[in-house]
Amino acid sequence: MNQAVLITKHGKAKCIANALAPLGFDVVESNAFDTDSLGTFAGDIERTLSPKEAALKKAKMACELLGAEFGLGSEGSFGNGPYPGIVNWNDEILCFYDRATDQAIYASASGPFAISSIQVNSETCRDTLLKKLNHFQGQRWLLKFDEQILKGLSSETLIETLADKQLTEALIEPDLRAMHCPLRQKMISKAADDLANRLRAICPKCNAKNFVVKEAVAGLPCEQCGLATQQIKQHKYHCECCDHTELKNTEQTAADPYYCQLCNP
Ligand SMILES: [Zn+2]
Ligand SMILES: [Zn+2]
Repeated sequence: MNQAVLITKHGKAKCIANALAPLGFDVVESNAFDTDSLGTFAGDIERTLSPKEAALKKAKMACELLGAEFGLGSEGSFGNGPYPGIVNWNDEILCFYDRATDQAIYASASGPFAISSIQVNSETCRDTLLKKLNHFQGQRWLLKFDEQILKGLSSETLIETLADKQLTEALIEPDLRAMHCPLRQKMISKAADDLANRLRAICPKCNAKNFVVKEAVAGLPCEQCGLATQQIKQHKYHCECCDHTELKNTEQTAADPYYCQLCNP
């Protein structure tokens, strides 16, 4: 087994290990570096790097600090997505860094994130609130009040804290750190599946990894009149190490006239 080192305090290795094991990688967790210093979800430390930059930095540091051949970096972000302001969105990036070749491979997964923040006021019924929180099994919470943030609270502890401190104004947010957020763990596992596919995809010319579809080429001809449509005609496989490119036709040979500018203007 090759070791792939992941620097984390948030127990992410278990989300990634299963996908990489069949490829001969043993995902090893290390806390040699405090990844929170690159920014936190709670907002007490600001993020200055883009998610991709942060993932690469973590993966490279794993190699530097631990002398590993392969480093992994994981970075999640929330917001953005296709419906900003309407649907909360979770993006997870995984970077795999190969020290010998200096190749960095980025894998990702994203999707809607169902948990939103909850405002507590004097009207809030604690039983209803507890039910609402317990709907998200295993999820832990942040409690923000009077410029304080309590982190990693279970639903029960949070309700007790509200009572003990007799809080009538507070904001509850999901604790987004991976070990406290089962929905994120699932998304990280999906990104790990994407990474496994990229590690399996070998360039026929130089044997580098990540020979996957990098671009979809439009232009599938209309079934009725032959005009090029915006439907996908080919997939472009590209190797970032030797620049080798292959175009492969999709299974479809003609587009439904529904997509044709001439037949269905
Ligand atoms: Zn190549
Ligand atoms: Zn047509």
